[in-house]
Amino acid sequence: MPKPKYTTHLGMVDILPDESPKWRALEQIIHEEAAKFNFEEIRTPIMEQTELIVRGVGQLTDIVSKEIFAFEKGDSHYVLRPELTAPVVRAFVEHHMQQRGGSQKLYYIGPMFRAEKPQKGRQRQFHQFGLEILGSDDPIADVECIAFMMRIYQRIGIKNFDLKLNSVGDPESREAYKEALRAYLKPNLDEMSELSQKRFEKNPMRILDSKEEEDQPFIEQAPVIQDYLNEESKEHFEKVKSYLDDLGIAYSLDPHLVRGMDYYTRTAFELTSSDLGSQDALAGGGRYDLLVEEVGGPSTPAVGFAAGMERLMIACEELGIELAEEKSVDVYFVTLGDAARKWALTHLPKTREAGLSATMDYMSRSMKAQMKDANRENALYTLIIGDNELNEGKFTLRNMKESEEMPLSFDEIIEKLTKKLL
Ligand code: AMP
Repeated sequence: MPKPKYTTHLGMVDILPDESPKWRALEQIIHEEAAKFNFEEIRTPIMEQTELIVRGVGQLTDIVSKEIFAFEKGDSHYVLRPELTAPVVRAFVEHHMQQRGGSQKLYYIGPMFRAEKPQKGRQRQFHQFGLEILGSDDPIADVECIAFMMRIYQRIGIKNFDLKLNSVGDPESREAYKEALRAYLKPNLDEMSELSQKRFEKNPMRILDSKEEEDQPFIEQAPVIQDYLNEESKEHFEKVKSYLDDLGIAYSLDPHLVRGMDYYTRTAFELTSSDLGSQDALAGGGRYDLLVEEVGGPSTPAVGFAAGMERLMIACEELGIELAEEKSVDVYFVTLGDAARKWALTHLPKTREAGLSATMDYMSRSMKAQMKDANRENALYTLIIGDNELNEGKFTLRNMKESEEMPLSFDEIIEKLTKKLL
């Protein structure tokens, strides 16, 4: 076939009709489980102010330094959202959502944009579902957040995963740890990557997240934050761990897990799966007690996670999990001649009102071609309509699977099909 003149941008993917049912099925699962947790959905615009993302995600993160799609129009600086924590916090502050009372438990599903080098499981437009709980610093919130995340995978049947857990401490613990980390890294700094050298003063903890080869030997030997947690952070972390134990949620401790964003405090977690290839992270999250204030709101503790939906789809494929049932249509009206087509057109709405799915040929094709099309559409029944049938008021209803046929009036057909199919 000739190469098309226009294609999607690099790393941007069409979700075609054969794929969209599984996306809807996944979205449905997320909505159902969120309802069981009493979480509420939030939908924010695709574009945000660049300044919000720079502040909210952090100037020195990969996302902000390399991956945002940003442009200007008039005096406004737009960015395609690379994640949703900062936008949800923006919405929380903008709409004074703390006034709704209690903690806000907000989940979302939607596309995100990052100018990354595309590969399997890594796109420039990809989808995440996630949750942000704002207004609680109780370890219960951390654990409910993790439990919701795990529940989605459990319900789908993905089991081979590793939940990595860490505490990155509160500001006091982090300062003590950063000091120790700087003291340890300083003598070796010349041998480390340029990015790590840049991060050294402002946020040395991010160095632990470095993927650069030359940094790895130093990272392996680095002091761990657990030795620098103050009593409060320690107690919080102990509670998170013990509640996870109570729920039977297995985890492994990873003292170098700092996650990509600057705003995390205390709990940090990441979910990886051996069912994925090199891009093995399914989801990640943590506590971000400082972010609401950072973007101009009242001091509000918060915790959340984001999960990659393409990655989840890949895991399903690897495991042979079908998210959606095979598509079908209840009844296909096969029409012979103009009068039959008109009759079909006016009886389709009645069929649909009865709760059935129904379609007809839009291309004036032969009966043979229509029967073939009905098979392609996976029709459960066909209804054959010609001049004779119209005169007699009886139509041939064919069960496509069992190849049974019977002549029935339209009302009888509807009654029979609704009893059988609904
Ligand atoms: P993050 O917001 O970076 O913590 O990412 C959370 C999850 O989103 C990751 O664990 C991945 O599953 C997914 N994800 C992040 N970036 C991409 C991407 N470029 N393409 C596909 N999935 C992604």
